[in-house]
Amino acid sequence: MSLSQMAKCISESPTLKLNETAALLREKGEPVIHLGGGEPKSKAPIDAIVNCSSLLQTGEVKYTPADGIPALKKAVIRYTEEQYGRLAAPENVIISSGAKQSIMVLLHAILDPKEEVIFPVPYWVSYPEMVKLAGGVPVPVTARDGGFEPTIDEIAEVVGTYTKAIILNSPNNPSGAVYSDEFVAAVVELCEKRNLYLIMDDTYNRLLFDGRTPSNCYKYSKDLSLDTSKLVVINCVSKMYAMTGFRIGWAVGSRELVGAMTNIQSQETSGPAAPSQWAAVGALNGLQSCIESLRLTLQNNRDVMIKRLNAFSGVRVAKPAGTFYCFPDFSAYEKSSQKLSRLLLDKVRVVTVPGKEFGMEGRLRLSFCGAMKEITEGIERIKWALDPNAPNEMFLGDRKIVRDWQ
Ligand code: PMP
Repeated sequence: MSLSQMAKCISESPTLKLNETAALLREKGEPVIHLGGGEPKSKAPIDAIVNCSSLLQTGEVKYTPADGIPALKKAVIRYTEEQYGRLAAPENVIISSGAKQSIMVLLHAILDPKEEVIFPVPYWVSYPEMVKLAGGVPVPVTARDGGFEPTIDEIAEVVGTYTKAIILNSPNNPSGAVYSDEFVAAVVELCEKRNLYLIMDDTYNRLLFDGRTPSNCYKYSKDLSLDTSKLVVINCVSKMYAMTGFRIGWAVGSRELVGAMTNIQSQETSGPAAPSQWAAVGALNGLQSCIESLRLTLQNNRDVMIKRLNAFSGVRVAKPAGTFYCFPDFSAYEKSSQKLSRLLLDKVRVVTVPGKEFGMEGRLRLSFCGAMKEITEGIERIKWALDPNAPNEMFLGDRKIVRDWQ
């Protein structure tokens, strides 16, 4: 079989693959603990379900406009005004099948072959592959101090004639870190000076801890008009409303850009599924207390996970300021994150995501969006697997295992 050069250079999403592995092992009755997940376990808001089922009951489930139904655009316009203080027109908004598709059609709309897209390390696993899919070149930037936020000089150093865009994701998947206001302001300034697109991936913007408020990139922009600005803001219902399976996200940008994205989306997939769009209308227009209750649950989960990790000698972990991930450094135990992740899955049936997938070795991404029992038992098992002083035997469910490694 002959495959395209493109197909040959795109790898599978490691996080989705891990979901499959965990599900397969569970089906076989294995006592798997999934600390690799990327979705809250709570149910979708009732307003989403009611709206979605009302449409289904009519039996009239048809194509929608390629850029989304007017009711959802209206809800997004209100959200944009409330959260960002920007008045968008319907032509500034495109609804896609998840934030992922919004980012993908955006990259297709702006990149010519070999143009570069810069993003800080650690980065969401999909950015490099998505940039490549759009014919571009990913340019990850690692902070020299080993931290989660490069300096603006480190970013500016890699800006060249081929640079087309910078992507910032804050709070960040996988680190849970929120970029400092100074850093975001400096990146906005740099992009405006060098005429670059700035893609703000605000997927986790509402899931912030310790009284932090969502940051608003527009406040650093000198360009007050959405139509001349090259700032594009990406959001979705996936995480904040626990609606990952509905696949609804959106982008807000200039009319010209959104128009181009709409043409691409119209040829690629047409508009997102109508029932999902109506569900998103329900979520955005309905009771908002579900976000706060999810946020509080996640904050509590984070506290428990971080406390347990801090009691783990040799492991260094920064307290996440948002999201539902932390990104501890296990290099004192094993420098290869893929080896470590494999060992934890094979021996103690704990799913984790290797840091290498996010551009940083020696770390694992651990999710705290699951049940509390999974978090505590998951960390217990990791500790047992790695601590040479732990007892030699442990029970996994009703199976006794004996440490035969290290
Ligand atoms: N951006 C980031 C940083 C994410 O973590 C994710 C999902 N894991 C997405 C975008 C995609 O979101 P969606 O499920 O809405 O496509």
